[in-house]
Amino acid sequence: MFDTLTQRMARIVKTLRGEARLTEANTQQMLREVRLALLEADVALPVVRALTTRIKEKALGEEVIGNLTPGQALVGVVQRELTAVMGGDYAGQAAELQLAVKAPAIILMAGLQGAGKTTTVGKLAKFLREKQKKKVLTVSCDIYRPAAIAQLKTVTEQAKADFFPSQPEQSVLEIAQAALDWAQRHYHDVLIVDTAGRLGIDEAMMQEIAALHRALNPAETLFVVDAMLGQDAVNSAQAFNATLPLTGIVLTKLDGDARGGAALSVRQITGRPIKFVGVGEKLDGLEVFHPGRMASRILG
Ligand code: GDP
Repeated sequence: MFDTLTQRMARIVKTLRGEARLTEANTQQMLREVRLALLEADVALPVVRALTTRIKEKALGEEVIGNLTPGQALVGVVQRELTAVMGGDYAGQAAELQLAVKAPAIILMAGLQGAGKTTTVGKLAKFLREKQKKKVLTVSCDIYRPAAIAQLKTVTEQAKADFFPSQPEQSVLEIAQAALDWAQRHYHDVLIVDTAGRLGIDEAMMQEIAALHRALNPAETLFVVDAMLGQDAVNSAQAFNATLPLTGIVLTKLDGDARGGAALSVRQITGRPIKFVGVGEKLDGLEVFHPGRMASRILG
């Protein structure tokens, strides 16, 4: 991923290597390359505009000091601004899950069908159990697809967490409530609620998940989105964010050839932090999202 951006950034640095100073002209040239690279990487246009404006302001104010060449100085500016857009402060800190509520802390999963929700539930269950020593229960509210419930059972078992079997004749609210009662009685620290996705944005799906959100008052509402969808990822994030108070985003399939623009746009457009990235189909294919690291990866 990010090859285009990386290659372009490398070219920019090379071009500027011979230059002694940052000037209006070489900064303009660099900005043109950055703008093209971001558009090619599927970053949404308003985000590209905002980003290049900030880079320009910062770059022109930047003193080229000591041993830094103009190329290095500009890459530093781009790196800091990319990090900031992806939700990091300048130290590139990660946004963590906020689960410090009365147990069980509920994580509600939202997203379109195929985004990687169920897989991510398994990954999160494993992550929370192994890294944070949490006792985790999972439940599926996807009453429309029995295969989805079976899939959640399988990944939960792989994660060595507990699975709450949903009764197909119950409503999603009854299922969620029953799972919550079970979690309370069995001292689970975290309850992860998987939900039904659709192929596209669908009013009935939105109402169902909004009702679940009202009933459960989750500590985290995570929107799972396929990074390969590029601009569509941003559109669906916007639609979910308008209906649900999302607390974070999980960007999946970053191990594929996603051009990665989604990482930049989704954060900027929804204002919600990316908390994790999916980097594989297996349950260990989950990484905490570090804006600073992602920016370095973009720069190459
Ligand atoms: P759901 O419909 O949102 O629950 O999506 P699933 O969890 O069933 O995932 C859909 C497909 O994407 C499955 O084939 C998963 O194995 C795959 N998948 C999920 N996350 C990742 C990821 O981070 N990387 C890759 N390569 N595949 C993933």
